[in-house]
Amino acid sequence: MTHSDASPLIRQYREIKRGYPDSVLFFRVGDFYEMFDEDAREASRLLSIALTSRDKSSTDPVPLCGIPYHASQGYIAKLLKAGRTVALCEQVEDPKSAKGLVRREVVRLYTPGTLVDTEFLSPSESNFLTAICRSSRSAADGHFLWGLAGLDVSTGEFWVMEFGGIAGTAQMLDELVRVEPREVLYPESAQSILSFVTDLRGIKVCPQPATKFNAEHASITLQTHFQVHSLDGFGCQGLTVALGSAGAVWQYFRETQPTASFDHVRRVQRRWNHDAMHLDQATIRNLELVRPLNGDQPGVERGKTVLSVLDRTVTSMGGRLLRDWLLRPLLDREAIQRRLDAVAELKNAVPQRVAIRTILRSVQDIARLSSRMTLRAAGPRECIALKESLSTLPELRAQLETFNSSLLTTLRDQWDDCRDISTLIEDAIHPEAPLVLRDGNIIREGYHGAVDDLRKTRVEGKEWIAALEARERNRTGIDSLKIRYNQVFGYYIEITKANLQKVPPDYSRKQTLVNAERFMTHELSELERRVTGSEAQLASLEEELFGQVRDRIAREVSRLQSMSGLLATVDVLTGLAEAAALGRYVQPTVDNSDVIAIVDGRHPVVESLNHEQMFVANDTRLDGNDNRLLILTGPNMAGKSTYLRQVALIVLLAQIGSFVPATEARIGLADRVFTRVGASDNLAGGQSTFMVEMTESAHILNSATNRSLILLDEIGRGTSTYDGLSIAWAIAEYIHDQHYLGARTLFATHYHEMTQLESLRDGIKNYRVAVREQDGDVVFLRKIMPGGADRSYGIHVAKLAGLPGPVITRAQEVLTRLEQPDSSSESTTTPLQHDDRRTLPQPHSVIDEVRQIDLFSMTPLDALNRLAELQKRVTQPQ
Ligand code: ADP
Ligand code: MG
Repeated sequence: MTHSDASPLIRQYREIKRGYPDSVLFFRVGDFYEMFDEDAREASRLLSIALTSRDKSSTDPVPLCGIPYHASQGYIAKLLKAGRTVALCEQVEDPKSAKGLVRREVVRLYTPGTLVDTEFLSPSESNFLTAICRSSRSAADGHFLWGLAGLDVSTGEFWVMEFGGIAGTAQMLDELVRVEPREVLYPESAQSILSFVTDLRGIKVCPQPATKFNAEHASITLQTHFQVHSLDGFGCQGLTVALGSAGAVWQYFRETQPTASFDHVRRVQRRWNHDAMHLDQATIRNLELVRPLNGDQPGVERGKTVLSVLDRTVTSMGGRLLRDWLLRPLLDREAIQRRLDAVAELKNAVPQRVAIRTILRSVQDIARLSSRMTLRAAGPRECIALKESLSTLPELRAQLETFNSSLLTTLRDQWDDCRDISTLIEDAIHPEAPLVLRDGNIIREGYHGAVDDLRKTRVEGKEWIAALEARERNRTGIDSLKIRYNQVFGYYIEITKANLQKVPPDYSRKQTLVNAERFMTHELSELERRVTGSEAQLASLEEELFGQVRDRIAREVSRLQSMSGLLATVDVLTGLAEAAALGRYVQPTVDNSDVIAIVDGRHPVVESLNHEQMFVANDTRLDGNDNRLLILTGPNMAGKSTYLRQVALIVLLAQIGSFVPATEARIGLADRVFTRVGASDNLAGGQSTFMVEMTESAHILNSATNRSLILLDEIGRGTSTYDGLSIAWAIAEYIHDQHYLGARTLFATHYHEMTQLESLRDGIKNYRVAVREQDGDVVFLRKIMPGGADRSYGIHVAKLAGLPGPVITRAQEVLTRLEQPDSSSESTTTPLQHDDRRTLPQPHSVIDEVRQIDLFSMTPLDALNRLAELQKRVTQPQ
């Protein structure tokens, strides 16, 4: 395509487009955003809008599609969803006064991680843009140093972290998973990072020039923004790669919103890895803390998670904070106790709890609203929303008056009613102000004299025009004479064709229609000048005043942010109290002992799923001595995995400061909680390889301490029986033995042999999930009892799965014989051989194979095939 042939507009378009090759460019032309060339083709496909062309008649028509400017938000949302970014190019001078082509500039780049627009954001989730980078040379210990920075521009939250040492990479990735950023930046030179981040499914990853990750640059830029001489005051001393990442994040925002002020970003917070319990990806996933294991399936009700069961918050700020609490359990006993005391008070004070929740329901997202004030994105109605939210503050404070717990008292002491801000909005902004500025009627009567005068002129002007109409009807004797108004001509007098002969000579003709003619008079044009002049003046004055009010609110953004934090905390604490009351949860005793003692514990999610069947509560006793490692056996589907998870969840809930589903609980704090779920139980991702299983186990054995809580669910499944058993056995010993780990552990296994460990190690105890056999069927009692399961019940499961009767009967026979004493050691005298001498001439070879079959990991069809094969072998003498 030869560019010189193109029209000036297209040339301008292509020049601007060159700066945004990866985004769809919305090019403002009058009341439309137009897209050309490749963008037009792509947008028409993604947005289902018609593709046409410009300069159709030319030999080289330009593909074109367009959307009305006021409908752009919906289309932008669609493109973002499709994984694209959008560059918004506006006319930056008034077309009326422009000489030649109107100047145009990209004023905003829409990318998933940089959104501030309420309509694109999920209220209950943060919207972080993060950047990662790595020290170019290995540090002194031979490991890389990772820097991670995150900024949620919708709330102004900004933090940096560094990770080093042997687990640095894993911890950095775990943190990314926890944050769930919408977009990740990384230096394009770092190919190796790419392989890690592409694992983060659904997150947009954007390579950036390595120069953007410069720590010194970043320091200077951020110091200028925060108006400080050093970032030490934020705890950033000694940081390098973290600042590099922070700089990349900052620059990216500058590029996407070149004209915006980021004054609501008031600080960069140094986060430490040890501020909270470090939860790894596998544990967050296995325990279904925030996402269901089987994912979100279309058409199916969204799976329940611990968060969804626990979340009784009523504000978006509270919802986001609860998620954060849940993913960052505390390690400090006193901090936990402070939360627990507050929850306890709120749980007991029923009337206040109800009142607080009712008031909070009318509080909107103050965090995001105040950000939009500084970004000058907030409209009149958002100011009203802010005012209404703030007006609840005195009432809320009064409700908190009666509480004595230290956390609630502190919140009350830091309280700020923000009355000046709500009064400002109250006085200045019309309570029924419209959504957008251009609709007018924003400034409240009595706030500004000139506005009131202009409005009066406008009203009077209309009266004058009505009076003029009456006078002219009189003078001309035309009853149908009308004074009308339209956008193009302004005011005019309209006379129907039939009355044209009565038109006086001082009328001047403006336009002829089919049935009427339109006229002007000197008096009317004089009136019009006054009326429309005041209209325009009023509009621009209202806009100016509104801008001033918004900027004054923006100056108070740090106060608004602290109040939003306070309200979120009140909401979360009240929500936890509500969840405790509704779920019959109990306040745990937390201490620094090594005891985990739970009476009648329940799994918070499983118990909420099935209402017909009562959840069977179970006790737990773990400690650093005799009850260090519990081996749990029992048939498939008995409830082993549920029990393991319930213990971990009770510990985690206690450590976020929540009550727990039990009738009594004493929790000796855990420094970490690890989970390893066996290959066949791991529904997520389908990477059920033995390698993954062993990598995760290695990670646990290398990272756990004797203060950790470990859940091992059916490990060793991914390999052959003997391999698996040996590994499971050795892992159990390693965890149990104090000179290695000595961590508190729950170990569910289908290997019976493991129960022998109880007699070999003093900290190991056997438990089983009780089942009752009834007429050859297994009834699940879901009760955890001391002692190991005596058998595997594989055949019962096979029966439940619908294997044909003869197969079950025969399997039962084979099993009974196999289970006779000495059947393995002395094959020459086994009863099997004795009974079935003719059909089993060389029984030992088959018996060995039967013994090695891992019934639990077979499908019914596999089992049937295998059985058929064995049967063939035993009926055909070898
Ligand atoms: P396992 O790990 O032993 O195969 P699961 O823990 O997966 O068994 O439990 C199987 C099912 O049994 C669960 O999905 C749940 O519906 C039910 N279940 C488990 N524990 C209980 C319980 N304590 N009370 C009631 N139902 C339970
Ligand atoms: Mg299981």
